[in-house]
Amino acid sequence: MNIAGLQSALTKLRWNPRWSLWVMLVALVVAMLGTLIWLAGRYEGSLIQTRLDRDTAEIATDIRTSLTRNVQGLQALQASERDTELWRLQVSELLRQHREILRIEWRDPSLKLVRAGSTAFRPSVFDRMGRASSAQDTAQACATAVRVSGAAYSSSYFMPQKDGLGMELLDLCIPLLDEGELTGYTVATYSLQDILSELVSKQLSRGQGLSFTEADGTRLAISGTPTRGTRIYSAQQLLDLPGTTLVLRLDSWHGTPDFFPNVLTALVSAMALALIAVLLLLGRDMRRRLKAESDLAEALAFRKAMEDSLVTGLRARDLQGRITYVNPAFCEMVGVDAKELLDHNFPSPYWPPELASAYQDRQTIRLASDNLPRGGHESIFMRRDGTRFPVLIIEAPLINATGKHTGWMSAILDISEQRRIEEVSRTSQDRLQATARLAMVGEMASLLSHELNQPLAAISSYATGSLNLIGDARGTDTTLSADLRLALKRISEQAERAGKVIKSVHDFVRRRDQVREPVAPRALLDAIMPLVSLQARKLSVRVVIEVDPACAVVLCDRTMVEQVLLNLARNGMQAMQTMQTEFRKTHAHERVLTLRVKPAPASETNRWVEFSVTDQGVGISAEVAEKLFTPFFTTRAEGMGLGLSLCRTVIEQHGGYLGHEAAKTRGTIFRFTLPSGPMAAQHSSELLT
Ligand code: ADP
Repeated sequence: MNIAGLQSALTKLRWNPRWSLWVMLVALVVAMLGTLIWLAGRYEGSLIQTRLDRDTAEIATDIRTSLTRNVQGLQALQASERDTELWRLQVSELLRQHREILRIEWRDPSLKLVRAGSTAFRPSVFDRMGRASSAQDTAQACATAVRVSGAAYSSSYFMPQKDGLGMELLDLCIPLLDEGELTGYTVATYSLQDILSELVSKQLSRGQGLSFTEADGTRLAISGTPTRGTRIYSAQQLLDLPGTTLVLRLDSWHGTPDFFPNVLTALVSAMALALIAVLLLLGRDMRRRLKAESDLAEALAFRKAMEDSLVTGLRARDLQGRITYVNPAFCEMVGVDAKELLDHNFPSPYWPPELASAYQDRQTIRLASDNLPRGGHESIFMRRDGTRFPVLIIEAPLINATGKHTGWMSAILDISEQRRIEEVSRTSQDRLQATARLAMVGEMASLLSHELNQPLAAISSYATGSLNLIGDARGTDTTLSADLRLALKRISEQAERAGKVIKSVHDFVRRRDQVREPVAPRALLDAIMPLVSLQARKLSVRVVIEVDPACAVVLCDRTMVEQVLLNLARNGMQAMQTMQTEFRKTHAHERVLTLRVKPAPASETNRWVEFSVTDQGVGISAEVAEKLFTPFFTTRAEGMGLGLSLCRTVIEQHGGYLGHEAAKTRGTIFRFTLPSGPMAAQHSSELLT
């Protein structure tokens, strides 16, 4: 790894809080284990020290007891004071039994040597320096002995030997008293070295260094070779003897050489190792977990990106039907935030209020029955702005990783666009059908016009024939003949008119060029008046005609425009007839149909003339207005629904416009325009009943 790589790795390590936690944990564990091991070592050390102190105390007691026993043995010599031989025998016996005593002397009260016996186990210790060299120590001991009237010891002293070495010796002085009178002294010389080796039990001193030391730590005598070790434990004990005090010291070498000095430390260390091993395992496990975590995060991010880019709405619900998850497409569809959807209780915010209870029931049944339609079901949802839209919901049970059924998952498709396309296609289908029917009607109309021409011609001829006959028959009742003549004339006129209508329709259907002729608007109205008046009388309607004198003649297919006017006038009268009888009773009023002609307001050059037909009928609702000009639309049982559609076609063929609007108080105004010709119409305004 290059330096930069190392640095980046270090930076990562430094800034990763998880790593620093781990480092802290390991450091703590190591510190704790170190402390434990140290404490265990200390505890062990304290155990050794206690044992050593106890041993030292025991050794001191042993030495003291033995020395006291020796004093008793030496006092026994007093009995054989006078018998030299016996004394010598007893002394040699004593010296043989107690190797620590090197010499026993009998001195007179002035400390002069009377007799002496030396141990047979080593050469005389005073050979080199002579006994006199230690006389002062002996005198000091004896003086103390006299003072305390019992055995007393001198301070230890060094006696060089012939071999170049030396020995540390100690004198014991016991005053000999005969009936309270001092008769002499028994002086015994101890070797400190031998005191240690002879008076101390071997068991206690094994493997340990036993010594007498001075207060400053100088060793006077040593016994035993301690086992080598790195750590020295030592204990000291004062050995109080009459006249002198010795310091007994016990040294023990104990091993911290062993890493596991005792079971406790071993146990703690084993546990520490196990802990470190567990830490390592944990670390490995942690690494794996981190990897799994990052894999999981990646998978989650992928899944979220997938869900977010979906256009299908997704919704998860629990077993009680509460929403537990929605994707952004769903939120966008219904225009409500995900949080609001999740927090919301029933009814859901996207349920139209009027359907909420039905939805609630449906949901309860569906969730209980566990029986979902495979192809999904259609429903109506509501956006936040209140608009409703159709959706297709496909639901499936939601099964978790353990195979437990935890809720329901739904995919929701907004099918409003689909519905719109279906609607458009249905409308065009309807239009197609209507066109087909229209074509059929056209065919029928052609056929009828052809077939009816004959009988109409016959009616006309018969009427003319009858008129001639009446003209010939003179001398008859003139009033009757005048009436008959008029009636027959009308029959003939209407038959002719019917013929013309048929011809116009025929031409219209066949799309032949219509004959346009200049006609005065008034003439158009006059032509339809007889038929309008007939119906108006029947329906008690008053017809008002108003023609603006400024109106020019119009250029039009006269018969067809008359038919348009007739149709509009008829519709107006029928609308007034259909008004509720009750209403008519309470609002007693005249029913007036106004036919008005005036120059079209928008035309500056007066090139257009506007015809309007105003009724006081029921009016046209928005629903009816929508389909008003659709062929075959009618609200009347006997209606064909072709009238207005035909009217518009006729007007539009003339280049005009046909429209309607609500009248001021009540009823409807139908208006249409026609192109005007050069001649001005005559002013006329009159009333017809
Ligand atoms: P039809 O007269 O055979 O019903 P139309 O095309 O002439 O066919 O009229 C279509 C429908 O329009 C009528 O059924 C009627 O409901 C409505 N309508 C037409 N004119 C009026 C009017 N002046 N007032 C109210 N409704 C009208």
